[in-house]
Amino acid sequence: MSSNTLTTNTIAVVAHAAGDLRIEQIELSAPDVDEARIAIAYGGICGSDLHYWSHGAAGESILKAPMILGHEIVGTVIQAAADGTGPAAGTKVAVHPATPNGTGEPYPEDRPNLSPGCTYLGSAARYPHTEGAFAREVNLPARMLRELPEGLSLRDAALAEPAAVAWHAVSRAGDVAGKKALVIGAGPIGALAVAVLKRAGAAEIIAVDMHEKPLAIATQLGATSTLRADDQEAISAVNADVVIEASGNYRGLASAVRGATRGGRVVMVGLLPTGEQPALISIAITRELELVGSFRFNDEIDQVISALADGSLNIAAAVTHEFPVAKSLEAFETAKDSSTSGKVLLEFLSE
Ligand SMILES: [Zn+2]
Repeated sequence: MSSNTLTTNTIAVVAHAAGDLRIEQIELSAPDVDEARIAIAYGGICGSDLHYWSHGAAGESILKAPMILGHEIVGTVIQAAADGTGPAAGTKVAVHPATPNGTGEPYPEDRPNLSPGCTYLGSAARYPHTEGAFAREVNLPARMLRELPEGLSLRDAALAEPAAVAWHAVSRAGDVAGKKALVIGAGPIGALAVAVLKRAGAAEIIAVDMHEKPLAIATQLGATSTLRADDQEAISAVNADVVIEASGNYRGLASAVRGATRGGRVVMVGLLPTGEQPALISIAITRELELVGSFRFNDEIDQVISALADGSLNIAAAVTHEFPVAKSLEAFETAKDSSTSGKVLLEFLSE
């Protein structure tokens, strides 16, 4: 594709307010010198995208102006960054959506995901909002781009971002080889955590959810057994060495604590609502559990891409639906029903 034929208009998925999602033409400015132009191929719908659409907010991030959604994207470079950084035109890429930023407040330097001024594509945490990338074409800083190795297709790499979130969560659990792992919540992040645990050599992986469909997906991704979320007795009897809490619900967190063995570790990756939340702390104290948080990721997306390319990480079954961008509303409705869908992809290339 010639760099002289860049369009200035493109189709994007824009959240205007609660319940007001539009597929509309937007004007695309010329890329900055450090930005490449990307033709987006696929975009995965994330819980945060659903929250902006349903509630006009994701946690404390409140929509104050229309915002393009989307941060789980892959595509092809159609114009390389003018400053010469980043991949050449024609390169297939995944995208690391974070821009770490300090504010003067302290954070561990080797964990830029915790930098207090960090921005993320498609996030209303700051104003002006950070536009997302659910669009046929976007300009993105070249440093966000991760080249896909030969043989790894855009479709197979479409879940690189949420898989990196899961990879980071499992790494927060420490060495899981030979251990018994419990995963609470088998939505996309929980299901991807199952796949990452399997790859990391966990001996047993027990997945918990309220619905059959996500449990079936978790089984395809490597869960050795499943439990229904209301079977508290069975969950308490698991005695897991490590627990990944991916439900984002305080009841799920209580199940995670109940299911952990004495001295075990609970990784909390499901984002609970802001404000105080009930928690089953007494058991955490008397069993000397370690409760650790997990937020986004750093370079784990590179490990995910390598593991997808060498076939050691198998996550294809996490995708249950694919919609052309013109049917984004239907796609969001489908993604909202966690009893019938796993990860839902938008497809941007077809007309
Ligand atoms: Zn996401």
